[in-house]
Amino acid sequence: MEKYDLVVAGAGGGLVGAIKAAQLGVKVLLIDASPDFINTCNTSMTSGMFPASGSRWQKEKGIVDSPEIFANDIMKKTKNSGHVVATQALTNVSVEVFEWMADSLGVPWELVTDFHYPGHSVDRCLSVPGRMGQLVLGPIWKVASDQKLFDFRASTRLVDVVIKDGQVVAAVVENADGSQEEIATDNVLMATNGYGANQKLLAEHNEEVSYIYYHGSRYSKGEALQIGMKHGAGYGYLDSYQGHAAISSHAKTLVGWTTIMQGGFIVNSSGERFGDESAGYSEYAAILNDQKGNTGWIIIDNAIHEGSMLFKEYEYTAASGAIVWADSIEELATAIAVPADKLMAELENAHAVHDGKGEDRFGRKSFEKRLQAPFGAIKVRPALFHTQGGVQVNANAQVLREDGSVIKGLYAAGGAAVGISGHGSDGYLAGNGLLPAFGFSYLAAKAVASQLVSR
Ligand SMILES: Cc1cc2nc3c(=O)[nH]c(=O)nc-3n(C[C@H](O)[C@H](O)[C@H](O)COP(=O)(O)OP(=O)(O)OC[C@H]3O[C@@H](n4cnc5c(N)ncnc54)[C@H](O)[C@@H]3O)c2cc1C
Repeated sequence: MEKYDLVVAGAGGGLVGAIKAAQLGVKVLLIDASPDFINTCNTSMTSGMFPASGSRWQKEKGIVDSPEIFANDIMKKTKNSGHVVATQALTNVSVEVFEWMADSLGVPWELVTDFHYPGHSVDRCLSVPGRMGQLVLGPIWKVASDQKLFDFRASTRLVDVVIKDGQVVAAVVENADGSQEEIATDNVLMATNGYGANQKLLAEHNEEVSYIYYHGSRYSKGEALQIGMKHGAGYGYLDSYQGHAAISSHAKTLVGWTTIMQGGFIVNSSGERFGDESAGYSEYAAILNDQKGNTGWIIIDNAIHEGSMLFKEYEYTAASGAIVWADSIEELATAIAVPADKLMAELENAHAVHDGKGEDRFGRKSFEKRLQAPFGAIKVRPALFHTQGGVQVNANAQVLREDGSVIKGLYAAGGAAVGISGHGSDGYLAGNGLLPAFGFSYLAAKAVASQLVSR
């Protein structure tokens, strides 16, 4: 039977690990549980925000940044509860990964400067035109397939690993017909995401979100966590998750926080705001969930609408007819059935804060612009995007036992590994999902390659 140096399970962030390892001479098999990962994995669903600290795209714009500044932002957002080793490893490698993706795989990164993500002290998120993860993953998958860099099997699920004398010797996989087989390999990278689609694991570890609508990949069943636990891996931050408060109720698409960060705000069915939206979209999911009907309305104007059209998902939202437009606040209030005086009071409050003539009662420091007629309203509901906790890893993405020792040959990345967002939902910074997915996969690839060289 054929033996591989590395089996990568999961072709979201895992795809870059497979490519990097193959480029370094590692014999790789990539498997994915889905028959069509490009359309079903979490990475494809994203707004494609990839943070890199000190990148050449920042330097071109005169933005001063460094891994230390980025790590400080992460620690500040997590109130110093973030995973220190993972944070350092990922902030240190961020530029290397994304510059390599541009130079070696032709990813056309642009620095996002048209609005500022909450919690990032400088603009550092990279994205591609259209701002969707699928527009990153699709083209790099084409590069990998055209160059026949590695073997690939779709509809193939990692269900276990075989460990002998402390070293991985095989991956156990389940095929589409339910048959199982062992594939001989010295290394397995678990890049299978978290357990957002596993109601039982959610209820066990993350009850807070087990009842919120799940908007991530249906293949995120938590197998990496279960495999890791079975083999004595340590784990952490299982209560950590990324929520989002701006899913269109009408279209079930991502409206996006760009609407808020350009000056929009959210009201409930009484026409009233209920918090500081600028704190972050992840924590706002639970806040929105507490409102009557578990829904709210994002209030925007035409300039915000135009600015948001840079995002494909917003474009889909608009095309679905999810935006209610009106020429005045009174007409908008009638159209969305909220009290006009309350909605008008919120608009006046936003304008007063913007003009420096008042303080927001929820502490929002900035409303980026005065909204002007015509006004738009988009009904939104909260969602769980992905879980952030997982098996413990070191700076090379090697899975660790509870005592801190390495399980030789076992690696984890992305939602399968411990995240960098601390506990709960409010430690999430934009990019904290994709950076561990791509960064740890890349680090695992390099670690496997260097281990082969040193043998
Ligand atoms: C709408 C939306 C927008 C988002 N926007 C952003 C953003 O802009 N920036 C950001 O940083 N994060 C964002 N996130 C979070 C981000 O999606 C995840 O953190 C990230 O994609 C996780 O990558 P991953 O490689 O771990 O998982 P995935 O991309 O889901 O890849 C895992 C792959 O593993 C496969 N798989 C699962 N189980 C198995 C198994 N047992 N065996 C084999 N294969 C398996 C799956 O089919 C899948 O293809 C967003 C999430 C959502 C839902």
